[in-house]
Amino acid sequence: MNTMNDQHGRSRTGDFDDVHDVVVIGAGAAGLNAALLLGRARRKVVVIDAGEPRNAPAAHMQGFLSRDGLPPAALLELGRAEIARYGVRLLQGRVEEIDHGYFVRMAGGVVLKARRILVATGLRDELPDIPGVRERWGRDLLNCPYCHAYEVRDQPLAVLGTHPGAVHQALLLRQWSDDVVFFPHTMDLAAADRERLTAYGLRLAEGEITRLVVDGDKLRGVELADGRVVPRAAAFLFPRMVPHDALLTGLGCDTDGTVRIVTDRTGLTSVSGVWAAGNVIDPRAQVITAAGMGSAAAFALNADLLDEDVDRAVEQHRLTAGAVPAE
Ligand SMILES: Cc1cc2nc3c(=O)[nH]c(=O)nc-3n(C[C@H](O)[C@H](O)[C@H](O)COP(=O)(O)OP(=O)(O)OC[C@H]3O[C@@H](n4cnc5c(N)ncnc54)[C@H](O)[C@@H]3O)c2cc1C
Repeated sequence: MNTMNDQHGRSRTGDFDDVHDVVVIGAGAAGLNAALLLGRARRKVVVIDAGEPRNAPAAHMQGFLSRDGLPPAALLELGRAEIARYGVRLLQGRVEEIDHGYFVRMAGGVVLKARRILVATGLRDELPDIPGVRERWGRDLLNCPYCHAYEVRDQPLAVLGTHPGAVHQALLLRQWSDDVVFFPHTMDLAAADRERLTAYGLRLAEGEITRLVVDGDKLRGVELADGRVVPRAAAFLFPRMVPHDALLTGLGCDTDGTVRIVTDRTGLTSVSGVWAAGNVIDPRAQVITAAGMGSAAAFALNADLLDEDVDRAVEQHRLTAGAVPAE
């Protein structure tokens, strides 16, 4: 891929003609925290973001030290203001491709050149096709007990058995409520799981779920195929989490044989110069974890850039000073 020209023959990279030290793709917690560290390290950084953070449907973000209960959008707004202070630029838009020369092509044709790349594009929660599920998602249909169960503690809870992970989720939820009903739905629930759930004080409601019953913008219950409605105040489901990793797989980054991109502890992928952080490589990462992964990646990215800068300086030094290389 090469830099594209507009009708006047000018580069379409516009005022981004220069090479950036790092192009960060994704401005959720992972991308913003990396950009913050890199900006403070006086690196030339641009962040590109499509504006669809995973937790956008939720009214509150829980479990982030000192920010517990803050609206998710407010955290990102604070982060955007912080990176701007250090000269990091933020572009709205979607990246469609990265090539091995570290050219980053956005939808619409803008192309940026980077020395290093951080992909922090998060993931997509694939929800089961049950009426009501999409509408209640992030409101009173929840995914993460650690993030949201405290707010619905001691209430009648449902767990929708739409994913094998739902059994563990249901067992976990007993820590917050004595009244948890597990809906196996179309799952072929193993006898051992059935026993574990029952022994641990959960009730089972057999039959296919036909819809979530909603009244006055509030979940009232779960309707089954035989017409029964089991009254519930909130429900949980374990979504199928699909990483937004097409940019990484497109570059040929190694995967673990399933869907996970393989990285080292800093987020470095198998492709030199390309790092990843946050939900795109770890679906379990909460906001604070994603931010921490961004921070770890930023340290490693900066050290890698420093090595390259110093190598170049040594080369230059030898050329100009005619220095004899040290053994
Ligand atoms: C309903 C819900 C509620 C949650 N509540 C909590 C909570 O209370 N506490 C908590 O700790 N965690 C919570 N989480 C988890 C939380 O959403 C994640 O931990 C967090 O969003 C991960 O941050 P991230 O930076 O990896 O990804 P994201 O926050 O998803 O950010 C990724 C960004 O990259 C952008 N992007 C994607 N592809 C491209 C592309 N090709 N080009 C440009 N930009 C792109 C996206 O638009 C997005 O803005 C919740 C999740 C859900 C689904």
